[in-house]
Amino acid sequence: MEFNERQLQIIEIVKANEPITSEKIATLLNVTRSTLRTDLSILTKMNVLEARPKVGYCFMGDVVESRLPEVQQVKVQEIMSRSVAVDEKSSIYDAIVTMFLEDVGTIFVLSEGYLAGVISRKDFIKSAIGGADLNTIPVGIIMSRMPNIIVVSENETVIHGAKKLMQHEIDCLPVIQEQESGKMKVVGRLSKTNITDYFVDMFK
Ligand code: ADP
Repeated sequence: MEFNERQLQIIEIVKANEPITSEKIATLLNVTRSTLRTDLSILTKMNVLEARPKVGYCFMGDVVESRLPEVQQVKVQEIMSRSVAVDEKSSIYDAIVTMFLEDVGTIFVLSEGYLAGVISRKDFIKSAIGGADLNTIPVGIIMSRMPNIIVVSENETVIHGAKKLMQHEIDCLPVIQEQESGKMKVVGRLSKTNITDYFVDMFK
């Protein structure tokens, strides 16, 4: 993205004077504070500047750029969370209870301990629409199933996992270890929330 002339001036002022308040930036540019509001908001949203309460604006651009190579190397196993799974014979009702208790949006389904399918929030909602007795229907009936499940391994990069999430328009990937038999043991979950948390932590 290209910055306008005033945004470039603001960046130079903050670099030279950080931390600096918006009042001082306005004075140096000979404009009112409200004139700067939109530019400052764009620069903070883009993480070029950081607005520190009661301190002022600081320059962040170099921090973001300098950490990019590090970000590209991070492996799924470093940020994944615990797998939440039910057996394929579990009822839809029990799986919904698990989803609430574990506070997740996607549940993995196992058959004899190995990955068999995935159920999302909307899969559950769809199953409830017809008014069927959710206590009697097994999750195996409504899940998205193997071999159509998109997975990621522990040693793949987070960026690679994130691309899979975006490309397939899904919220969560089972993190798997593939066995010699071709079956997949689930060792974790990589969700959009994991990835967002990681970025927020990194640039704190
Ligand atoms: P929601 O449907 O609640 O918005 P998702 O976007 O994650 O949640 O899921 C969309 C559909 O894709 C659902 O039918 C779900 O079963 C399926 N799905 C979710 N995750 C995966 C995955 N890792 N591999 C294959 N299908 C998936």
